[in-house]
Amino acid sequence: MSIHTINPNTNKTVKSFEEMTDKTVDAKVAKAQLAFTNWKKTSYQQRADLLHKVATLMRNKKSELAKTITLEMGKLLAQAEGEIDLSADIFDYYADHGETFLADKVLDPEYGEAIIRNSPIGVLLGVMPWNFPYYQVARFAAPNIMVGNTILLKHASIVPQCAAAIEKLFQEAEAPEGLYTNLFITGNHASKLVSDKRIKGVSLTGSEEAGASIAKEAGKHLKKVVLELGGNDVFIILEDADMEKTVEWAVVGRMNNNGQCCVASKRFIAVEAIADEFIKKFKEKLSKMKVGDPMDAETELGPLSSEEAAVHLADQVKRSVDEGAKILLGGKRADREGAFMEPTILTDLKPGIAAYHEELFGPVASFYVVKDEQAAIDLANDSDYGLGGSVFTQDIERGKRVADQIDTGMVFINHPTWTQADLPFGGTKRSGFGRELSELGIQEFVNKKLIRVSGLNDPF
Ligand code: NAP
Repeated sequence: MSIHTINPNTNKTVKSFEEMTDKTVDAKVAKAQLAFTNWKKTSYQQRADLLHKVATLMRNKKSELAKTITLEMGKLLAQAEGEIDLSADIFDYYADHGETFLADKVLDPEYGEAIIRNSPIGVLLGVMPWNFPYYQVARFAAPNIMVGNTILLKHASIVPQCAAAIEKLFQEAEAPEGLYTNLFITGNHASKLVSDKRIKGVSLTGSEEAGASIAKEAGKHLKKVVLELGGNDVFIILEDADMEKTVEWAVVGRMNNNGQCCVASKRFIAVEAIADEFIKKFKEKLSKMKVGDPMDAETELGPLSSEEAAVHLADQVKRSVDEGAKILLGGKRADREGAFMEPTILTDLKPGIAAYHEELFGPVASFYVVKDEQAAIDLANDSDYGLGGSVFTQDIERGKRVADQIDTGMVFINHPTWTQADLPFGGTKRSGFGRELSELGIQEFVNKKLIRVSGLNDPF
C-alpha cells in the first residue's frame, strides 16, 4: 500500500488508503466512458451550471479544504486558502467563457461554406502533482468538462484526502456518475492505463521522469498528451531595478509554497552594479524567516511536502557543495522534527555543479553575479528547462526586450512568474509542451472538426 496522508510537519502517518484493483479501475473507466456518451450531448449552459456549482462549493468549504492541503503537503494555511480561491476562479472562468472560446469558427473558402466545430474527444486521464492539489486539478478538469470530455484523475499518492475531496465536490454538485473520477493508483499503473482504448488523451503535471513515462505510452498508443514539467526559472535583477520591492518579490518568488512551485524563482541573476546590495538584503530577509508549523499563522516557512523530498533537496545541496558551490546561508535540514530545510542560498555555481543544472524544489536559492544584461540573458538560457522567469527593471521597454530573448514559455516583468485563470501557462524545452489556462487551455483536447458544405457543381 503506497497511498498515505503523512503530515510533513511531524512525519507521522495520519491515514492510509487502499490502492484500487485492476477490476475496480476497469469498472471506473467504463463508467467514465458511459458518462461521456451522455455528457457530450449536454449544452454549454448545463456544463457551465455544474462548474459554477463546484466553484461555489469550494468557496463554501474553503477552510476545511485548505486544512487538508496543509495537513497533507505542508503548505502554509493562508496560502492553502488562496489556492482554493484560485481554483474556484478557474471553474467560474471556464463556466463563463467556455462557450465563447468553443464557438464555431466560420471560414471563407473560395466555394461553398466551411466551419470549424470544436467537439469533445472522450475520456481523459489526468496525472497530477501534490504541490497545488486543487489548482492543478482545476486547470485540467474545468476546461475539459466544459468541452464535453470526462475525467479520470490519478492524483499524487501523498495527497489522497485532497484527491477524494475533489471527487466529493463533484458528487455534491450532482455531476453525473463517471464525469469526474478519482483513481487511487500508482504512477506505473497510470502509465499502463494510457494504453486503454477508451482513454483518448492524457495530461500530466509533474517531474520529467513521470512525464517521459506517460509520453512514451501516449506515443506508443498515438494519443494526445500535454506535459507541464519542472522549471529552473531565473529572477534577473538589472541595475535600474527598484531594490526594496525587488527584494520583497525575490523572497515571495523563492519561498512561496515552501519553495515548491514549478515556476518558483530558482536562479537569482544580478548584474554586477547592484549584486552586493541585492544579496545583502535578500540574505537578511531569508535569515529572519520564521520556520515552523504550517497551520500556525505566524509561520513564514513550513516543511517540504515529504521527508523524501527534504532528503533529496539536502542531498542536492551537499552534492553541489562537494562540486565547488559555497553556502551563503543555511544549507542544512532545520533542527526540528518534520520534513524541514533551512532557508538556503548557494553561490559560486558553475556548469558541472548539480545546482547549476537541477531543479531545487524547496527553499534553496541559487545566486549568480553577471557583468551585464546580455550575460544575464545568456545564463538564463543555459538551462534544459524553459518554464517561466522574471526580469526586474524600471524600464518596461527594456524588460520586454530582455523577456523576448529568454527561451521559456512565460516571462514576467517586475513580478515572479505566477498564474491566473485568464493567462496561459506552460513551457518549452524539458519543461514540457502544451498550454493550460486562458483560451489556449481549453483547446488542447478538442477535435477541431471541419464541416464543409459544397455545391454539387463546385470544382474538385
Ligand atoms: P512526480 O513525482 O512526477 O509526481 C507527479 C505525478 O506523477 C504524481 O501523481 C505521481 O504519482 C505521478 N507519477 C510518478 N511517476 C509516474 C510514472 N512513472 N508514470 C506515471 N505517473 C507517475 O512529481 P512531483 O515530485 O510530485 O512534483 C514535482 C514536479 O512537478 C517538479 O518538477 C515541478 O516543477 C513539477 N511541476 C510542474 C508544474 C507545471 O505546470 N509545469 C506544476 C507543478 C509541478 P505518485 O505520487 O503516486 O508517485
